[in-house]
Amino acid sequence: MALTGLEIYKQMPKKNCGECGVPTCLAFAMALASGKAALDSCPYVTEAARENLDSAAAPPIKAIKFGKDSVLGDETVLFRHDKTFYHPTTLLISVSDTLSDDELNAKIEEIKGLEFERVGLQYSIDGVAVVQESGDAARFAKVAAVVAEATDKSLLLLSSDPEAMKAALAPLASRKPLIGAATADNYEAMVNLAKENSVPVIIKADGLDALEELVVKAQALGYKEFVLDPGTRTPVDTLANLTHIRRLAIKKKFRPLGFPVIAYTSKTEPMEEIMEASVYVAKYASAVVLKTSKKAHLLPLMTLKQNIYTDPQKPIQVEPKLHSVGNVDENSPFYITTNFSLTYYSVEGEVETSKIPSYILPIDTDGTSVLTAYAAGKFEPEKIVEAMNACGIADKVKHRNIIIPGYVAVISGKLSELSGWKTIVGPRESSGIVSFSKSLT
Ligand code: SF4
Repeated sequence: MALTGLEIYKQMPKKNCGECGVPTCLAFAMALASGKAALDSCPYVTEAARENLDSAAAPPIKAIKFGKDSVLGDETVLFRHDKTFYHPTTLLISVSDTLSDDELNAKIEEIKGLEFERVGLQYSIDGVAVVQESGDAARFAKVAAVVAEATDKSLLLLSSDPEAMKAALAPLASRKPLIGAATADNYEAMVNLAKENSVPVIIKADGLDALEELVVKAQALGYKEFVLDPGTRTPVDTLANLTHIRRLAIKKKFRPLGFPVIAYTSKTEPMEEIMEASVYVAKYASAVVLKTSKKAHLLPLMTLKQNIYTDPQKPIQVEPKLHSVGNVDENSPFYITTNFSLTYYSVEGEVETSKIPSYILPIDTDGTSVLTAYAAGKFEPEKIVEAMNACGIADKVKHRNIIIPGYVAVISGKLSELSGWKTIVGPRESSGIVSFSKSLT
């Protein structure tokens, strides 16, 4: 259980020197207790005190790293709008060791093809979970090796048999896979195997009480690179457990459950599976193992993940420079929008669909949408004219027409006056651009 501010204060040097950034040791202790300060900021803490305070200084959910660049946990808030979420849910596609060689190769190729571009960002599936279902240790090791050879994605090795795990893990330890699961029956062998190979291990038990008990026992083996699996496989129970674990870790700083949590989908119908996975991505799985590897199924899930894990205080923005869509020439229409990625790419997508090569100038509105930017005084005629002059649009087109979003029709008069160009009020929504563009020809 976390220490209170007063308990921490008792361990402080009580010099009140202010070198930690706050005026007194008591204020620092309070900040430490609420997770707003780091113990390292005080240069005078004794080693004995540091040891005692370790639990207070540690993040509420331990960061666990595995594979290529997967980081699980290390979250500090319950709700994204409280601050931000830091480590996007790692999505892994399961591959059974019962697949034939041909099926395995086809599955791997499908997984490798899971690359997407959305609002100017590239993203792909994070990893592959190799699952032992054959009961054959040699087959499990072979499938794990084939998957590892074919892809550099993060690996999760799943088997309840420590001997099978040992054989599969030995040649792959340098890839730092996540392994699992350690259960009440095998935890000593499985945790020791993880410890010997310096890889993280999943601790699995049925229900939170049993999970807490098993984590404590596993930690007694001198290792704590854990990912938790509360054992439930139905969406309702899994959601409840994910929520309880996150609340206990963040609000109560309950250390035995202060680890990232993995969830497994149970649905077999792909769209139901994606809905189930969406629930776990939203609350609060650090990793989700899925069965489907079809692009069309996974795109909505990855879009959701991308939306949840963007920093709400830092909207995704595109560069506020002149963009051209298609083979533009001196007659190409000229659109103005904002540099909020979602707005820009909605406009760009519709302009592309219209098949009329066009220029688009996103104005730097700090990544806000059209109406928000206008309300905040960031989408003013003066600023638009300044951006037009800077990008040199006057030298690129022979017409003098600016198309502005319909929502800011009110600026058309002043924009025409300041720019000397004719302002054409475009559609309010980008979805109207295709039909609107026909009126230009
Ligand atoms: Fe106290 Fe350490 Fe902060 Fe100085 S730096 S005020 S000793 S907590």
